Amino acid sequence: MTKSALVPEVDFDRDGAQYGFVRLFHSVHRSAYGYIPIPIVVIRNGDGPTALLISGTHGDEYEGQVALCNLARSLKPEQITGRVIILPASNLPAAAAGLRTSPIDDGNLNRLFPGDAQGNVTEQIAYYIEHELVTRADIVVDLHSGGSSLNYVPSVLMMQDDDNPARQAELVALLKAFAAPISYVGHAQPGQGGGRTTAGAAYRHGKLALGTELGGGGMVSAEGVRVAERGVRNVLVHMGILPASEAKPGPTRVLDVGGPEYFVYAPGTGLFEPLVEPGEEVVAGQPAARIHTPETPWAEAVTVNFARDGFVLCKRVPGRVVRGDCLFHLGTDLGW
Ligand code: CA
Repeated sequence: MTKSALVPEVDFDRDGAQYGFVRLFHSVHRSAYGYIPIPIVVIRNGDGPTALLISGTHGDEYEGQVALCNLARSLKPEQITGRVIILPASNLPAAAAGLRTSPIDDGNLNRLFPGDAQGNVTEQIAYYIEHELVTRADIVVDLHSGGSSLNYVPSVLMMQDDDNPARQAELVALLKAFAAPISYVGHAQPGQGGGRTTAGAAYRHGKLALGTELGGGGMVSAEGVRVAERGVRNVLVHMGILPASEAKPGPTRVLDVGGPEYFVYAPGTGLFEPLVEPGEEVVAGQPAARIHTPETPWAEAVTVNFARDGFVLCKRVPGRVVRGDCLFHLGTDLGW
């Protein structure tokens, strides 16, 4: 295996709290020998499980970044057993710019795993995370939100693992331990990354993985931050890294996000009029949205319907749409 060219300033096997950077050397006009400083925190107290906590994979998803900044400052080695690795701004160039993708190479970190040791900046980050961090972890939690184009009911999610019933059962237990108001089970969907995501990286190395969708719309949701902070601590308790007394259990509603019929897409170019909001229950055939053309206001608006019953988990934020933009997706009760 090719070794990653990234250089961590931290020693993953040293006890205590370490704060520093992973250096990604990037030679550009204004800085011939410079590096991109990807912040990393390692808290370790003896042998035990390792949790890898990530945010900023998409730089315009903020609640997880806030939650992990708070955790990085507050978590002390003496409180834990084992190790917590925190990467709050994993795609640092994207996070610093408040963008989904990197302004350097347009890389979408959550579509580039397993990465490339000799690739562009974002591919090198993916390669480092997969081969140097995921491999050290027992559980990977990657905190996402809806980004600039979607807004979610705060949720925790896992990817269905049909190949490994034991791993699937552990993931379901973790999902419930996280105790977000909504939990959902995702399936590999076309265009949603499959093995190119952090969940895919964890799957390849036999590690547990959870994700979140904490809000979105390019905003910071106070509720989303609270859900993230509570959920991450609950996961650390579940893994045996924090003591049981730190647990804040709570009810969750577990939904399935199945095939393409769960998703509603814009049927054409225009202005999106939503007819429902996240958190509502809908039925098959119910109108989801109308697409108007203010350029020709006399033209009939085009109505798009939900293809099935379900709970509205997320909604598109910007008003202007083109054919193919995702407007909504649903979840359906699993009864778990
Ligand atoms: Ca995301």
